[in-house]
Formats: sequence, structure tokens, C-alpha cells
Amino acid sequence: MVEIIEVRNLSVAAEGKKILSSISMEFDAGKIYTILGKNGSGKTTFANCMMGIQGYEIENGGIYLDGLEITNMDVHERAKLGITKFWQDPPNYRGITVKEYLTLDGRIKITGEDLKEVFDIVGMEKTVYENRLLDSNLSGGERKRIELASILILSRDYTVMDEPDSGIDLMSLEVVINALKKLKSRGKTTILITHREEIAMEADFSYLVCDGKIIRKGSGDEVISYYKNNCDTCKHPNTPDSEDVFSAGSGVS
Ligand code: ADP
Repeated sequence: MVEIIEVRNLSVAAEGKKILSSISMEFDAGKIYTILGKNGSGKTTFANCMMGIQGYEIENGGIYLDGLEITNMDVHERAKLGITKFWQDPPNYRGITVKEYLTLDGRIKITGEDLKEVFDIVGMEKTVYENRLLDSNLSGGERKRIELASILILSRDYTVMDEPDSGIDLMSLEVVINALKKLKSRGKTTILITHREEIAMEADFSYLVCDGKIIRKGSGDEVISYYKNNCDTCKHPNTPDSEDVFSAGSGVS
């Protein structure tokens, strides 16, 4: 079981454009973390770098799992070490039922009772959905719930959720919060990108990103309240090339 992920002085660029500037974060086992920031601040880039998605230049720093450097490992290698991503949408598999998808075609052994608990958490009736085909007849909201159910069944040590608001609108906030709490109760960690205050309030710890830099960190409620008071109304364009309005020490706690 992974105890800690450390991001040390990570600077990242894509297509020659600097996106993240020397960010450092720590993620302990069994906690809920949120990453806040306005559009364009670098959150998705961070989530993709955590997952090992290609297309970024790591200019400096690295990511460490219990001291093991994983900065250059790909998605599959990281998955083996216990890091997974909430992909938002399960793929369409012809002829595969929801239950077959969730149990990796029977390779994951799960009792009917435990499967029912997972369906309950994501707000779906097991008897209605387990034998449904995983195809385009499922709505966007149903597909997101199924993907969340899959995260609960996989129950990896670390799950990264890059959650555009549209994704959450299709599921109730309660569903997402209950899933986060379930993972936490099993000692698992979620790193969640969200703008939703209700979810941010649940975080044990939160990081606020602006212009690819961390400008605030602290408890979930403290950082979301700072975000609401300062970022919602901020006219700063939040592009990596824009003038740095946050001089050293300007709110980094
Ligand atoms: P957020 O998720 O906070 O909206 P992103 O990480 O998507 O932010 O993007 C941060 C900045 O980096 C934006 O200005 C975006 O245009 C730029 N960017 C993201 N990905 C790439 C890429 N592959 N190539 C060039 N610029 C990128």
C-alpha cells in the first residue's frame, strides 16, 4: 500500500509553453484532496502528469511514490503501482454487460451483497443495471455512475478525478461525496479537481493553483472560502504568459 505521493518542484511545459511552475504537493494515504483553480490555471495538466499521460515536457522536479520516482512512468506502470484515473466515461464494449465491465469480465471476485452496496452508493438499482449492456443506450449520467462504481470496485490506493462541472452535473453531488467517503474509509486517497463548493468542503486538504503555481494550501473549507472571496471575481487572465500578480509570499500559506 502506497503511503505518500510527493510532487517535488515540478515544472511542466507543453508545445514549448510553460504550464506548471515548480509546484510541490504531498498526498497522504486515506485522505481526500481537492485541487482548485480557475480555467486555464493548469489543473488538467497536473492531473495528466500525475497519471503519466504523454505530451508534456517535464522541465524540472518529479513525482515520487514512497520515495520511488515515477515521473517518467507511463499510465500502465502507474496503474500497477496503485494510481488510477476516473475516466468520466466507460468505453462502449459490444456485448459486455455492466457487471462484466465492473468485474473485468469476472476477474474481480465480488459478492452480490458488495456489488449491491456499490450500486447503492452510485444511486443505481443493481437488479436493473447489472445485466444491461454497456452500450450507447446508456445515458451520460448512467455512464458516469458506472465509471464511479468501477473506481469503487477497483479501489486503487490513489484515484485522480479531473471533474469538469458538466461531469458532476450529471451525477448528484451526494453520490460523488459518498463515493469519496467510501474510498477514504478504506484508507484510499482521492485527488479531485473540482469547482464545487460542496465537494471542496469535504476535502481534508486543498491546493489552489493560479498561473501554474500553488498560491494557497490548507484545509478544504479554508481554501474554498479563499477561492470564493478572491478568485471568483478575479479578472486575472490566468494564462502562463500573463503578468505574475502573485509576488512571492502573497498568500501562500
Ligand atoms: P485547467 O485544467 O486549469 O483549465 P489546463 O491544464 O487545461 O488548465 O491548461 C493550462 C494552460 O496550459 C492553458 O493556457 C492551456 O491552453 C495550456 N495548455 C494545456 N495543454 C496544452 C498543450 N498540450 N499544449 C499547449 N498548451 C496547453
